[in-house]
Amino acid sequence: MNRKPVVYISRKLEKQWLTELYRHLEVSMNQKRTPPSRAEFLKNVKKADGIITVLTERVDEEVFRANVNLKIVANYAVGYDNIDVAAAKRRGVPVSNTPGDLTGAVAEHAMALLLNVAKRVLEGDSYVRAGKYTAWDPLLLLGSDVRGRTLGIVGTGRIGAALAGIASSGFGMTILYYDVVRNREIEKKFGAKKVSLSDLLQKSDYVSVHVPLLPSTKHLIGRKEFSLMKRSAYLINTSRGPVVDEKALVNALKSKKIAGAGLDVFEHEPKLALGLSGLSNAVLTPHIASATVGARREMAEIAAENVLDVLVRGRRPRNEVTA
Ligand code: NAD
Repeated sequence: MNRKPVVYISRKLEKQWLTELYRHLEVSMNQKRTPPSRAEFLKNVKKADGIITVLTERVDEEVFRANVNLKIVANYAVGYDNIDVAAAKRRGVPVSNTPGDLTGAVAEHAMALLLNVAKRVLEGDSYVRAGKYTAWDPLLLLGSDVRGRTLGIVGTGRIGAALAGIASSGFGMTILYYDVVRNREIEKKFGAKKVSLSDLLQKSDYVSVHVPLLPSTKHLIGRKEFSLMKRSAYLINTSRGPVVDEKALVNALKSKKIAGAGLDVFEHEPKLALGLSGLSNAVLTPHIASATVGARREMAEIAAENVLDVLVRGRRPRNEVTA
């Protein structure tokens, strides 16, 4: 009898999200909630026909050398900066990602961070829990308005465009955007206006970042950019940590060059830049923007379908990434 192809999954996922994968393939899954060591990862890659990886696993030449027969790398994420796509291409190994319901989940999280930092929700929560709330005070924890304010979106692909919809339809915000390509749909639907990055930074009350991590986007927002922003403005980042120069951000927050920040991703995560965790004008979440049950389940289903496309159906993965 022919052996079933083997797929290695580098992080524990819910088994019931992967029914089709278990039906057709031999599945080997890291049962821990922590990343495998590099040695353990490579050992498992060697035995697999395909792998499902997450952003903590670096997939590079060493991985392709470890198994020259690898047929698919399905990343359990939309971003794929952890994968050397050029090396995969040279080896003829297709790489896929998981765009889908996660788009809405991440856009909602960006809005949650924005509202949280503008309305000082965490500061208020800590204040109440510390027993400091003794009397209503007209000047207590004054925050910022959101309705009718200007939101600058840096990168209006799937997630940036979804945020434009939430902010425009739900909060009547004016949308400015900066992207290397024009997005006529958000211009038509939400009256969004394409501007230069410096214009966006100077005119926005909130700036939300949604570009992929590329050589061209590393430190896209740094000291110079913070100096262009309004002192009353907030930065939201749910894209990738290194898109923002985190040291410069800490300085901007400390010196009140900007009013606050909402961050789901960090430049050297899980480590934080020195001083960041002590700042009350920053709201921090541990890279959970896509962590809804619906989105995480769909990501598993999409990753599984891409693996099945290659290992069972003998065709290109449906969500193949090319760059
Ligand atoms: P997308 O590819 O649909 O959109 C990215 C947009 O960025 C595109 O419109 C592209 O033209 C633009 N862009 C690329 N390079 C640029 C540059 N140099 N300057 C300006 N614009 C540029 O991607 P998406 O699905 O919207 O996701 C965006 C990013 O969000 C992902 O790459 C990923 O890193 C991140 N993400 C984070 C989480 C999380 O859990 N925090 C979850 C999903 C995605």
